[in-house]
Amino acid sequence: MNAQLKDTALDSLTFDNRFTRELPADPETANYRRQVMGACYSRVQPTPVAQPELVAYSKEVTEHLDLTGDACESEAFAQVFAGNHLLEGMDPYASCYGGHQFGNWAGQLGDGRAINLGEGVNRQGERWILQLKGAGPTPYSRTADGLAVLRSSVREFLCSEAMHHLGVPTTRALSLISTGEQVIRDMFYDGHAKPEPGAVVCRVAPSFMRFGNFQLFASRGEMDVLRQLVDYTIRTDFPHLGEPSPEVYLRWFEEVCLRTAEMMVHWTRVGFVHGVMNTDNMSILGLTIDYGPYGWLEDYDPNWTPNTTDAVGRRYRFGHQPQIAHWNLAQLANAIYPLIEEVEPLQQALDVYPETYEKGSQVMMAQKLGFDTLEPKIDDELSTELLAILQLVETDMAIFYRKLAALDVDAELPDDPSDDALMAPLMDAYYTPDLLTGEHRARIGNWIRNYRMRVRKEGIPDDVRRRQMNAVNPKYVLRNYLAQLAIDKAEQGDYSMVNELLELLRHPYDEQLDREEFAQKRPEWARHRAGCSMLSCSS
Ligand code: AMP
Ligand code: MG
Repeated sequence: MNAQLKDTALDSLTFDNRFTRELPADPETANYRRQVMGACYSRVQPTPVAQPELVAYSKEVTEHLDLTGDACESEAFAQVFAGNHLLEGMDPYASCYGGHQFGNWAGQLGDGRAINLGEGVNRQGERWILQLKGAGPTPYSRTADGLAVLRSSVREFLCSEAMHHLGVPTTRALSLISTGEQVIRDMFYDGHAKPEPGAVVCRVAPSFMRFGNFQLFASRGEMDVLRQLVDYTIRTDFPHLGEPSPEVYLRWFEEVCLRTAEMMVHWTRVGFVHGVMNTDNMSILGLTIDYGPYGWLEDYDPNWTPNTTDAVGRRYRFGHQPQIAHWNLAQLANAIYPLIEEVEPLQQALDVYPETYEKGSQVMMAQKLGFDTLEPKIDDELSTELLAILQLVETDMAIFYRKLAALDVDAELPDDPSDDALMAPLMDAYYTPDLLTGEHRARIGNWIRNYRMRVRKEGIPDDVRRRQMNAVNPKYVLRNYLAQLAIDKAEQGDYSMVNELLELLRHPYDEQLDREEFAQKRPEWARHRAGCSMLSCSS
């Protein structure tokens, strides 16, 4: 049992643990791996570590928790958020869930290395669950150790916060703490295991519930627990839907479809590839959750996935994510069907997903191109052709859209400008300009002519269009090689770049003149380096 800590700096955190109070618990409290039946969670203590040291914390998240900067820099903070001490009111547990992994039902998975500390309630009455990732084994750790390495923890910490500032729904990260202990990992599963520094991230979200939580009880025929969990979720996280009933279950599922569709539109907008969209990694709140072998599109390639484990089938490639989300929602529909027992209305609710995604994508593409109103036919053609020309040769997605925003469209062009003249302002986006053939240039030039025509037809002044485009097309994303550079330094005990990237990514849409280098194309050395272009699930 971890000793409870009295610390005035952390006093502002008060807990109200509704999940453990209202849902069925596993009666077993000893910490060994097992199948847990008829329960939503198992109580479990974090494993203390040798030497916790704060690497970084997120200012915005501390504000949600009413914590001061001083509190976060205190010794007590590092102790608590590495799992060495509990605060009064914490009631740690690991939750029980299952999931489809790469399309196959995997049975019980559960929080194998996540331990929920408790539900913090802030002064505004908002509920935030605090969850440690990497704080030691739980009953759900199966054959693994329950730990996390610094490398993957830096990636999770930075990306959670980067996504938030991009306006993408996501779980958040309060803190990143190195443990002072070594963790053995075989990064490419090829017999080269080595020790790496360990770390713990404290994740924060209104709920960490996954599709897989519901699926597990349905798969086992534990309908009472399934109903309790659905009712709990509706009352806690969807109270606007009213008291649970079959009618409300449908409205709830519809809302999950809607939120998931909105999340997918955002991922497409910013070029995020999750890497492991298993149903246990799908949040019931439509939040991006579980940052593992994710990556950011640098050159626009719908077939790209950073996850080496998925290199052959590419199930979770960038361009396939929206369809996978739909498939995952269908699995959730199957799981809750016994509570509704009518196929037709459930199917109608599921149809909200493609409808919302398609409409949302249309609006999103129009915004990326700077249009105020939709001209469905013209815009569809423009978007489709744009996504094709972005793939002619390697083209950096983020740079392309920022350069497009900077085009002068107000100014009259000389009669019949050449393709090269039209393309000149966009050339920074190309990794291999030498590979642009005459045919490519003609096609791109033509697209720019059509784009200019569309903009001029609508009559949006350049400065207005630029402002609108730059508010949805980020200048700074967590480029894969940037995260890796920050990790290389952090592994040497230098946390400066983690903190610099955290700061940079707080304002992803702004021009940050002293940080231009972070907006540049991926350097050549990063093309094939592990961690920059390919990642394994080892974390
Ligand atoms: P993921 O693919 O990372 O979402 O993980 C799938 C399952 O494996 C979840 O149940 C995780 O909790 C579990 N898991 C992943 N890594 C570890 C680890 N190092 N120790 C224990 N469980 C883990
Ligand atoms: Mg997971």
